Amino acid sequence: MSEEFLPFARPSISREAIEEVVACLESGWITTGPRVQKFEQALKAYLGAPHALALSSATAGLHLALLALDLKPGDEVITTPMTFAATLNTIVLAGGTPALIDVELDTYNMDVRRLEDAITPRTRAVIPVHFAGLPVDLDPLYAAAAKHGLRVIEDAAHAIGAEYKGKRIGAFGDTQVFSFHPNKNITTGEGGAITTRDDKYAERLALLRFHGMDREAWNRFGKTGNQHYEIVEPGFKYNMMDIQAALGLHQLPALDGFIARRTALAQRYQKLLAGWPQWTLPHAPAYPHRHAWHLYTPLINPEAAGIDRDAFMQALKERNIGTGLHYRAAHLYPYYRDKFGFRRGDFPNAEAIGDRIVSLPLFPSMTDVDQDRVVAAMGEAFHR
Ligand SMILES: *Cc1c(COP(=O)(O)O)cnc(C)c1O
Repeated sequence: MSEEFLPFARPSISREAIEEVVACLESGWITTGPRVQKFEQALKAYLGAPHALALSSATAGLHLALLALDLKPGDEVITTPMTFAATLNTIVLAGGTPALIDVELDTYNMDVRRLEDAITPRTRAVIPVHFAGLPVDLDPLYAAAAKHGLRVIEDAAHAIGAEYKGKRIGAFGDTQVFSFHPNKNITTGEGGAITTRDDKYAERLALLRFHGMDREAWNRFGKTGNQHYEIVEPGFKYNMMDIQAALGLHQLPALDGFIARRTALAQRYQKLLAGWPQWTLPHAPAYPHRHAWHLYTPLINPEAAGIDRDAFMQALKERNIGTGLHYRAAHLYPYYRDKFGFRRGDFPNAEAIGDRIVSLPLFPSMTDVDQDRVVAAMGEAFHR
């Protein structure tokens, strides 16, 4: 085994980004400050959003967006089981009950046709997840949400740079949460952001992001000084550091180039694997969209492959190739089974996907030669 390990994801960090981090460290100001402010301006400009709040993670963003709903016990938030655990966890942490609907078998996204039937008098919000960077069918989703007065919090952790019917995710709709984890399409180490078009909501989120501290509240009582603040409600410590924003300032301008390379690799996988009985490949929906290709995730057909998903991942590991598992169906985790009574059989599409899905290596600096190595290794694993 002479070839070096090929990971399933690897961030592309430019020399300029590294120098910006060093400059930040040497500046004497390393936590939230001018670089975060500049990064938020850059996010607003790129995303076309009136408000963008930089955060310590997307999990923090989901948590804040849900906390700001002031959920009462029994209030329901609709999402799907085909997502990272944080989507469901933050619903529970904010005091809500996750109400799940199944995904489409071919896109892994929320089957929006099932949404209206899942809405009850207790429903407060819906969280569509743009799986792998493929936008959910948002027009019917927003129509149903408007009809029932629901908040929409898009889990856009995979979807920075994605577009739905010619509009960028973040440039329309209600609220979006983005992730800058190292595996995601751009990174700040750990990090995330919320965008929203609701001024009042943005104000509340900003307050909750940082201890519930309000300088304006103090100023209301007098004109002098700004060194005081008031605590208007207990808040969290979910701010982004300038060290992180230093990376983000150089990642964001590179994003479109990253997506272009991801798209080329994903389309090449689709071509190289077309006709393999061992795989069911991802499908594009009919509506116009730009896929951000955060992940390339086919489904293994274990009968044709002679091995199941976990054995396939092991076989590639033995050939020094990393793969990822995004995701097993979230309703089958012990906590969600025990607490909410979910069972196998509740969401057959998410279960079929969760049992068979695998993330193949995909990152901007991956070469065609790397990709050929992946395809050759899977041919060996399948005894093809
Ligand atoms: C990565 C991810 C999150 C959480 O992002 P962090 O920045 O790691 O907190 C949430 N939802 C989905 C779908 C994700 O993939």
